Amino acid sequence: MDIIPTMTVTVRDRRGESPWGVGLTSPRTRTVTIPANCRRCGEKRGEPKGHNTSDDGEWYWVQTWNNPCGERTPNDD
Ligand SMILES: [Zn+2]
Repeated sequence: MDIIPTMTVTVRDRRGESPWGVGLTSPRTRTVTIPANCRRCGEKRGEPKGHNTSDDGEWYWVQTWNNPCGERTPNDD
């Protein structure tokens, strides 16, 4: 059985937040472990970079990366 390389990143956890339009925006983040290679093209994902970003005045920190094929979504599931 092959060992699949993984990477651990911090991403926005929109599913953990209130539905849009309900109450105040309160960004949540979570740490996830994902395959180090892009699910779409199979190439190694770009190096994650941390960003402070804001949504409606609420600041939060996440990591983003660029994949060789341009796919940016960290996980589809
Ligand atoms: Zn890709």
